[in-house]
Amino acid sequence: MTTIAELREQVRGPVIEPGDDGYEEGRRVHNGMHDRRPALIVRAAATADAIAAVNYAREAGLDLAVRGGGHSGPGFGTSDGGVVLDLSLLNNVFVDRTKRTARAGGGTTWGDFNHATHAYGLATTGGIISTTGVSGLTLGNFGVVTSLELALHPVDTIYGGPMFFEVADAPALMRAYDDYIQEAPEQLGAFFAWQMAPPLPFIPEDRHGDVFCAIVACWSGRPEQGEQAIKPFRDVAEVKAEHVGPMPYPALNAAFDGLFPKGIRQYWKGDYVRDLPDEAIAAHAEHGPGVPTVSSTMHLYSINGAAARVGPEETAFGHRDARYAMVILSASPDPGDDEADIRWVRDYYAAVHPYSGTRGGYVNFMDSDDAARAPENYGGSYERLRAIKAEYDPDNLFHLNQNVTPAD
Ligand SMILES: Cc1cc2nc3c(=O)[nH]c(=O)nc-3n(C[C@H](O)[C@H](O)[C@H](O)COP(=O)(O)OP(=O)(O)OC[C@H]3O[C@@H](n4cnc5c(N)ncnc54)[C@H](O)[C@@H]3O)c2cc1C
Repeated sequence: MTTIAELREQVRGPVIEPGDDGYEEGRRVHNGMHDRRPALIVRAAATADAIAAVNYAREAGLDLAVRGGGHSGPGFGTSDGGVVLDLSLLNNVFVDRTKRTARAGGGTTWGDFNHATHAYGLATTGGIISTTGVSGLTLGNFGVVTSLELALHPVDTIYGGPMFFEVADAPALMRAYDDYIQEAPEQLGAFFAWQMAPPLPFIPEDRHGDVFCAIVACWSGRPEQGEQAIKPFRDVAEVKAEHVGPMPYPALNAAFDGLFPKGIRQYWKGDYVRDLPDEAIAAHAEHGPGVPTVSSTMHLYSINGAAARVGPEETAFGHRDARYAMVILSASPDPGDDEADIRWVRDYYAAVHPYSGTRGGYVNFMDSDDAARAPENYGGSYERLRAIKAEYDPDNLFHLNQNVTPAD
């Protein structure tokens, strides 16, 4: 069996054991709920390093945690007593402006990615926090991806940002959002959110700490048409605070980073949503204003347009009929908040879940206690994925993920 000393000879990146420099930082992931102590952290500097680390973990019979950006709610990027394969050094992004593609290393974050593509006036669909990993948001389950190629689109300066409304306007705003977003031009992305006002200059000082409902919009068409595109939201009620205007796309992608520093303690629950009946909106309006901290929220993201033009069999994403992905998330730096925060998420979820009209949720919005939901979360794709898993990873070495178990 390969020893750690031999592994150090094989790889070019740092191999870190307990007590070594970098161990304390290296064992931590974004969600501060997970205080785990791996036996070994391999920071791959090349694909060959990743191969060596995987082989080492398999031979040693140790759990293998593959880490991209380290943002997974259940902390899949770390492990007690296992091997962490940290890909964060593989963050180079090569943009092919002619083919309109970008090849990104397996440890690239959305911030790295957008920085590289924005220089060419190009972008792709991604997450809303720039420190999230491109790989974990895109993948899961099947081996280690050391680089991936994504299609790009002409997106440069967008028009958008957050608009805050009074909590009393939430039912009307949610209904208007539901009506408009289904038919809106495809250049418009927007989500509904609850937001406790942070102490930012665009919010009146006497409203800091108050809870609002919000629309966060991103118009990627011609900037001069942006105001018109978001007008249906403004028409609902008076906007009490806003940070809306033309901005570089990467600026919007990083606008909320301050609310989610590494180490903040998070708890997540989510569903795909097909319908938003009045009863569901009433349940949102009852629970949403109780957001316990400035970083806690419920986001309702629309799924339509191009996503609905792909067949359920064509990719792993089986819920093409869902109209929204909903996430309820609590986040606080203080362990003393855990109990109340988790209770808020669970109560809120219990109140809205009966109206979701689907059984599954987005895998990346599941926390540890929802591991058993994997089959319904992959929906109609699950059995097909199990067959693929049986072929490529019959022993389920790659199991620290929203796990697809190998078919028998
Ligand atoms: C603050 C915050 C904001 C978020 N916002 C969004 C959002 O806007 N949209 C959205 O869709 N999701 C969002 N998410 C959820 C996010 O998509 C998931 O947490 C995702 O899994 C994170 O990917 P990662 O690479 O950072 O995480 P990791 O914890 O590193 O990885 C997550 C999973 O992917 C696997 N994985 C990672 N990299 C690789 C690789 N290179 N090869 C093989 N497997 C790999 C890991 O093994 C693990 O199972 C957010 C999460 C957080 C914490």
